[in-house]
Amino acid sequence: MTLYHVAPLSRLELDETLRDYVCSTCWGALTFVHRESDVPGKPWYAICPECKERTAGYTSKKFTERKRLENEQEYFEAAHNLRDVLGLKPEPQSIEKNLSDLGF
Ligand SMILES: [Zn+2]
Repeated sequence: MTLYHVAPLSRLELDETLRDYVCSTCWGALTFVHRESDVPGKPWYAICPECKERTAGYTSKKFTERKRLENEQEYFEAAHNLRDVLGLKPEPQSIEKNLSDLGF
């Protein structure tokens, strides 16, 4: 029984995991530890520095980047569609007022 929930890795698997994946729980960048395991040739663990022993698995960076972009687009769409309800609609201001706000 090992300390970690994730599988031990070879050096090559570790390099690929650190390059292509993030923590599946918090999407944070992974780091690694070297620890003897039950699997010969696989003494490395890719773990999340925040989740530590609770690191449950990995999610690809491509997936998280795509989801972040989608979430950002959804945010701007929602903010645009709800601008009247949320009071986000900026009141048009005169040039003089804008300059005054900037301290001129
Ligand atoms: Zn994490």
